[in-house]
Amino acid sequence: MTSVDPLRATGQIGSTSTTCPYCGVGCGVLATPDGRGGAAISGDPAHPANFGRLCSKGSALGETLGLENRLLYPMIRCSKGTMERIAWGDALDHVAHRFAHIVARDGPGAVAFYLSGQLLTEDYYVANKLMKGFIGSANVDTNSRLCMASSVAGHRRGFGADTVPGVYEDIDQADLLVLVGSNAAWCHPVLFQRMIANKQRRGARIVVIDPRRTDTAEEADLFLGLKVGSDAALFAGLLVHLADHGALDRDYIDRHTTGFDEALARGRSIGGSAAATALATGLAEQDVTSFFKMFAATARVVTLYSQGVNQSAQGTDKVNAILNCHLATGRIGKVGASPFSLTGQPNAMGGREVGGLANQLAAHMNFTPADIDRVRRFWKAPRIATHEGLKAVQMFEAIGRGEIKALWVMGTNPAVSLPDADAARRALKKLELLVISENVLSNDTVSSGVHVLLPALAWGEKSGTVTNSERRISRQRAFLPAPGEAKPDWWIVSEVARRLGFGSAFDFPSSAAIFREHAALSAFENNGSRDFDIGALSSVSDEAFDAMTPALWPHRLGDVEPPERFFSDGEFFSADRRARFVAPEQPMVRTATGMERPLRLNTGRIRDQWHTMTRTGTSPRLGAHLPEPFVEVHPDDAARYGLTDDSFARVVTDYGQCTLKVVVTEGQQRGMLFAPIHWSEATSSAARVGALVAPLTDPFSGQPESKATPASIVPYEYVFRGFVLSRKPLALPDHAWWARVAIGGGLAYLIADNADLKGWSSWLRSVAGEDLAEYSDFGGGVYRAASFAGEAIETCLFLGPAHDAGDWSVAKELFAAATLGDDQRRSLLSGKAAEGRAGAGPIVCACFGVGRTAICDAIASGARSAAELGAQLKAGTNCGSCIPELKRLIAQSGSADPDRAKLVAVS
Ligand code: SF4
Repeated sequence: MTSVDPLRATGQIGSTSTTCPYCGVGCGVLATPDGRGGAAISGDPAHPANFGRLCSKGSALGETLGLENRLLYPMIRCSKGTMERIAWGDALDHVAHRFAHIVARDGPGAVAFYLSGQLLTEDYYVANKLMKGFIGSANVDTNSRLCMASSVAGHRRGFGADTVPGVYEDIDQADLLVLVGSNAAWCHPVLFQRMIANKQRRGARIVVIDPRRTDTAEEADLFLGLKVGSDAALFAGLLVHLADHGALDRDYIDRHTTGFDEALARGRSIGGSAAATALATGLAEQDVTSFFKMFAATARVVTLYSQGVNQSAQGTDKVNAILNCHLATGRIGKVGASPFSLTGQPNAMGGREVGGLANQLAAHMNFTPADIDRVRRFWKAPRIATHEGLKAVQMFEAIGRGEIKALWVMGTNPAVSLPDADAARRALKKLELLVISENVLSNDTVSSGVHVLLPALAWGEKSGTVTNSERRISRQRAFLPAPGEAKPDWWIVSEVARRLGFGSAFDFPSSAAIFREHAALSAFENNGSRDFDIGALSSVSDEAFDAMTPALWPHRLGDVEPPERFFSDGEFFSADRRARFVAPEQPMVRTATGMERPLRLNTGRIRDQWHTMTRTGTSPRLGAHLPEPFVEVHPDDAARYGLTDDSFARVVTDYGQCTLKVVVTEGQQRGMLFAPIHWSEATSSAARVGALVAPLTDPFSGQPESKATPASIVPYEYVFRGFVLSRKPLALPDHAWWARVAIGGGLAYLIADNADLKGWSSWLRSVAGEDLAEYSDFGGGVYRAASFAGEAIETCLFLGPAHDAGDWSVAKELFAAATLGDDQRRSLLSGKAAEGRAGAGPIVCACFGVGRTAICDAIASGARSAAELGAQLKAGTNCGSCIPELKRLIAQSGSADPDRAKLVAVS
């Protein structure tokens, strides 16, 4: 950021310690405002989650603080249908009046809140309290339902409470790390670096269990590429192996658990031997046996699981199949031994603590008569909800049926992220009242019929707490002034509550006051019967809250030294204090493939983007790694369906269709496709992958099956490819395929099309004016043009045949320059750098901007390790997120022609 942003100019001086707003690792961040609206970002060496490390996303936070597309004032849909600015008081009056009217007319079940794992705990607490205690409905759910609800349900079935037993230090101390359904190298990078450090320092072995061979598998001592949906079979087979090979902890089972015999009997029916398990999972028997032996022989084992386990119609059973193996060996609550759920979002855990899910009440209390009465008395609640509400998918189905008439969405984008996302959009448009608390002025949910838009504070402006995957509560602190009229989410909800007549229960002067009440509720009539207890923090002063250092829970009143791990005494939270073995159902994928949909679509995240890209999508650095939406296909399937690497394909399911770039890779299983979830209508023309996903859910957790939707794929031809670089957002012609990415100085639209090039020339004139430098060979299918403002490029369009559209990385470099020399100006339309250098290619190392071309050149010149590449190019020497990709490129050079040109072609 070069100029001073007047809305940011009064930012504080000095560095502020805060917490990263992305994944559940919960890294500590030091932010030092530059006084111009930006901030320098570094890892906080004192934070126990990361000890100073940040991944590529965290490192680029400073690039995401701009106010483009920022919602700065409350807005309301007026009678003409347009959104117009409104005063805060009027907006809040309107929201309260409409909610009150609909509740009075149709009852509390006709309204709902849809929250987000991006909210702070204090925001979550106030929203949950209002809906469940005062409006009288439990229709409060969250995008965390899409992320880790199966872990919650599995914990509750196994432990009697939603308790994460272990801590990150166990990852440092384990001798065996088993990653199930987790691409931690991309999705939890800093924690993954801790695993690698353990491997290097202590010799820990790593097993990766995943249908996809991801970058995480590059570090595995054993990779188990099992059939989709068969995780529970593998762990059922493991339980049988442990029983049959003398690896059980009989004493632990007898003293601290129930249900072992039933779980073992079910295990025998699912995977009674290594051979049967191999058959059920599609793995080689030898690999199954190796894994079983490793697990049986290693006392210190941590099993880490994530979305590949949770996002399943049998996700809860998968979780319990894993927990069963740890309970059977007593490997829980001990140093270096634990099952471990990796949460996806920065505050999924805080939402769980508050009870911000439709099937929880509050503070790890449930809809039992005793808990309902206890929470009612604590809140002095006039109308407490007495039964569970609707979970996310069911909530949107109820909206679609017209049963829910008012919805308040806070900090999330369900029109992109929900399964069957087109149905979710249609449902949103039916609402009588759609209120959205947001940072951005526009996104897919906002454009689905919003009635009231309320500007909420964003990361860097808001202040409160978040909890990471290991139960560590950290402060998010403000280091930038609030822009425009943006307010904290907790303030917005409290003001509406006040207008609904509940002022005395929502009279919070600060987030610290909310935190104190939240902590007091956790301890209220607890006496050790509930896991979540932070009573020791219930009287924290405002000053102490400001200064609070990261702290694990529990943190009970009177704890001299709070325990780090749960269950080290073998006591659980069920009525009899014993853990439960759960017999999983026969593993299966509930949807069937067939002639029409012969493949299965798996969805997930990529390394450098987060959710629907509203924040990461503004960073040029993060956009440079994988700028286009893609679908991964196995080479055999590519041959079968007529697809080639770098071509386009249409992916179709019963719910929708997308057009995506094809990446042919051995990492993908035959019969499976993989597509990332990040692109939306705002960032692409045809890549809203949520619209493809089946809305099937797990019967216990309500979490959708996002990993196995039956799908088909067909090639899709585009005659022309190219790109537009622009200083401002553009509306591209409807016929074009496009994907938008941030670049230095503006935006790039990567495009493909079949329409007449002369039409593109006219379009460019309509957006950039007549004063163009042009090169056209319409007969040869080439059109390149640029407009200039002073010495810099203003707009630039390249279109050409698919094999020769021009190198956008060269044009990007020239576009980023404030002034172009004559040579550069002349060379722009040639698509080649003036010095004759090749373009950088896709950026592999986001921290130092090292492209694949330079890396492949270095490998071709003899670099044979990530360390050597680091020494030569600095690639991989900061956050380390790209090291697996560096290793993969080196490995590919060994198995294929090491010629650079061939390497560059590997996508
Ligand atoms: S691993 Fe990366 S995204 Fe996750 S919290 Fe740390 S810096 Fe943020």
